[in-house]
Amino acid sequence: MEWNAFGVAERLMRYVQIDTQSDPNSTSFPSTEKQKKLAQVLLSELKEIGLEDATMDDNGYVMATIPATIAAEKIAALQLPIICFCAHIDTAPDCSGTNVKPILHQQYTGAPIVLPDDPSQVITIEKYPYLKNFIGKEVITASGRTLLGSDDKAGVAIIVSLAAYLMANPAIQHGPIKILFTPDEEVGRGADHIDFKKLNADFGYTLDGGALGCFEMESFSADQLILTIDGVMAHPGSAKGVMQNALKIAADIIAAFPKETWCPEHTEGKQGFVHPTHIEGGAEQVKIEFLIRDFDTANLERYETRILEIANAVVQANPNYNQAKLQIQVKQQYRNMKEIIDQHPAMVELALSAYKKAGIAPVIEPIRGGTDGSRMSFMGLPTANIFTGMQAIHSKQEWIGVSDMQQALQVLAYMVEIN
Ligand SMILES: [Zn+2]
Repeated sequence: MEWNAFGVAERLMRYVQIDTQSDPNSTSFPSTEKQKKLAQVLLSELKEIGLEDATMDDNGYVMATIPATIAAEKIAALQLPIICFCAHIDTAPDCSGTNVKPILHQQYTGAPIVLPDDPSQVITIEKYPYLKNFIGKEVITASGRTLLGSDDKAGVAIIVSLAAYLMANPAIQHGPIKILFTPDEEVGRGADHIDFKKLNADFGYTLDGGALGCFEMESFSADQLILTIDGVMAHPGSAKGVMQNALKIAADIIAAFPKETWCPEHTEGKQGFVHPTHIEGGAEQVKIEFLIRDFDTANLERYETRILEIANAVVQANPNYNQAKLQIQVKQQYRNMKEIIDQHPAMVELALSAYKKAGIAPVIEPIRGGTDGSRMSFMGLPTANIFTGMQAIHSKQEWIGVSDMQQALQVLAYMVEIN
């Protein structure tokens, strides 16, 4: 099977030329109307391929079904789950996505790749050791002024190519397969308006991962905590023995936090952290915002208790602070999707046996962040993440090796095929 026959590279290069940058400051949905332009292209393309039920809704979500090639009785007898492949159509706000000019480097030589529109942008093996795997093969980059947008148009291209492959090969036996393209993933809202009932799938897989073999089914659990410090105000001319300055208390509290542990700049792997991100206020009242992160959800509450203990200790240690009031407010952000995926071992097994069949060693690492997959998992669709090959994402040096996309396509084909 020559996977490139199904045009995954050609599709990626076509999709990235449509600007779909999302906007964190927008209050509309999707956050930018231009994302619908790509959604419209995908809708037409899926219909052309033969997915008759393809739709795009007002929010810019595209859904379609690759119809089963086996009888309903057989699907029922096999208890086949309905799986959904999902990718996001928007690109990151961090880097321009306007006038992306993708370049296909046919036979990468191993030499530095100087991007023509900004020669100061150079992609090298020294900087990206993974690039070594593509010497003699095809690599796609942008031209120097924009990101490439393989995050996540590589995922989109792989899924559309799967549909084209399966529709062109009706002899391959498979159940119904759902396709979902979402807007606004990069601004954290991609799962907001998914019509899960209409989608009607048992498991989901986002095609939004990096290097060959990566398989992600674990994310942080995340809360935001706001610590409010109320001081005691008085006219500064007659404040002796009365004033308790919230700013000074806040400064002492921040200074009392561990500096070499428990923070993002000193943690990795499975370690969690507490991260003060924002402070505002004045002498009367100060609010400090923290991000609380851990893979073990139970630790979040421990961290929150500890923050309050540290703050209380600061206030109690200083007689000038003894009238100050402390208060915490916790907002749940997202939860480790592993809590849900662990209840569905079949979805992990299905993916990993396809990796194996394709000769790909799985690399299972926790995501030190959250994804739409973690939110979708808790909204009723357990969702893990599969590699696409994308590298150096959200930057002008973003690149992707075409063979990785082809291998991902092969993995999907193995996942759905019944033999
Ligand atoms: Zn992505």
